Amino acid sequence: MTTALASLLLAVTAATPPAARPSPAPAALPARPKLVLAVAIDQFRYDYLTRFRSEYTGGLRRLLDRGAVFTRARFQHFPSVTAIGHSTYLSGALPAMSGIIGNDWYDRATGRLVTSVSDPAEKILGGGAGEGASPRRMLVSTVGDELKIATASKSKVIGLSLKDRSAILPSGHMADLALWYDAQTGRFVSSTFYGAALPDWVIRFDDERKADAYRGGSWRGGDLPKEAGPALYGAVYGSPFGNDLLEALAERAVEAERLGQRGETDLLTVSFSSNDAVGHEKGPDSPEVRDISVRTDAALGRLFSYLDTRIGMGNVLVTLTADHGVAPLPEVAASRRMPGGRMPAGSVRDAVQAALVQRFGEGQWVVSPSDHSIYIDRKLVAAKRLDLDQVQDTAKEAVQALPHVLRVYTLHELLAGSASDDPVGRSLANSVSAQRTGDLELLLEPYWMFAARGTTHGSVFGYDMHVPVIFMGPGIRPGTYRRDITVNDVAPTLAEILGVESPSGAAGRVLDEVLAIR
Ligand SMILES: [Zn+2]
Repeated sequence: MTTALASLLLAVTAATPPAARPSPAPAALPARPKLVLAVAIDQFRYDYLTRFRSEYTGGLRRLLDRGAVFTRARFQHFPSVTAIGHSTYLSGALPAMSGIIGNDWYDRATGRLVTSVSDPAEKILGGGAGEGASPRRMLVSTVGDELKIATASKSKVIGLSLKDRSAILPSGHMADLALWYDAQTGRFVSSTFYGAALPDWVIRFDDERKADAYRGGSWRGGDLPKEAGPALYGAVYGSPFGNDLLEALAERAVEAERLGQRGETDLLTVSFSSNDAVGHEKGPDSPEVRDISVRTDAALGRLFSYLDTRIGMGNVLVTLTADHGVAPLPEVAASRRMPGGRMPAGSVRDAVQAALVQRFGEGQWVVSPSDHSIYIDRKLVAAKRLDLDQVQDTAKEAVQALPHVLRVYTLHELLAGSASDDPVGRSLANSVSAQRTGDLELLLEPYWMFAARGTTHGSVFGYDMHVPVIFMGPGIRPGTYRRDITVNDVAPTLAEILGVESPSGAAGRVLDEVLAIR
């Protein structure tokens, strides 16, 4: 009897495959992934994949070799900035639907500049005083929200980045946790939106003072400060070491929260921010951007190796994109006999202010600091009993007369839909919110910018809008895909793979060409 039971047990044990081993390419019906890893690299142009391809040996190499790689993915909104790119990634929504119309905007109700995630109702956890943060300004759901709804919150959703908006917006409203970096203290912080206190494992991670280990660290951009302190922590953020620190945090999150190891599909979003800091400072053609791109490949490789040991990469669905690209430095463009240059900051606001004073009389007409989005004092318009459309039209005429202005749209034009009959106008129309959008929205000619030094992004041109989109993992058919797609397609595709409802504002399609037959 005992012998029979023992041999039965032995037979059962022998027949059970080791749970953590990735299975060979499944012919049909791949299991749901145990973990979805949604990676974003801040300011990572599509051509960083091709230009530095021969130097990649880590995670980017693995994605390029084994993933479904889209060569023609673009955004379709304006401006091409971090908050919008990150809200688009896992909601699939256009700014007109998501309400995330910029990194920050002038809030007409309170008369203050707000950020995409600032929230006076919350406090920062683990950091200094100051306003808290939350996804409340985002009006739509994310893949993570839909996953939580579908599993009665058994799935865990966690967002990590060095930037608050890049941790908060992709993970969504129902996320268990979002963490970002405090460059004053070198610690990761969160918001009371996610709970009353930081989880113990985050405090332990912070107490290990990992940022201090980068003292004197060397990369193509020079050496980091040799003393611990704010100068070091800022330099970590602005170097490849910031990404390394985030990668270590991602490993710790997987370990501490047992992501992908609990019989549920979990979602981890990881947005590497240091690429953006380096790119703004040095430009896309610099050796520094090349260095950080190659080191990002290495950091991703470490994360994949860790996940392979812990969960098995055969059980991990990876997606990768970027939130926007970047323009060349105007000086580099000039050296190539390409167009471009720098416009003095304030020139647009000054032109609008002068034109409105001349036409409608004295007053502080312009209430916002941006040169791209002009907000007019609505109280002044009302007090003078003026027609707002007429005030906007007068402002538009003044801006159109400035050099290197490609387009100017008034809010009333955008809301009436009269801008949407060409690709540039459609990007604007896709992004308009009656409450949040400026009274005037303006685009400079290609390669022109207001930045006084370094370079920037935000335009609708290819260098800002063309980004990588890669899927890799169970259920994905590897290959190179050359059809035009939009980043808005990623979220509905993930929802389809996971068998959950498509996010509420998703404006893309399911990329069914990459789905293995199921
Ligand atoms: Zn960005």
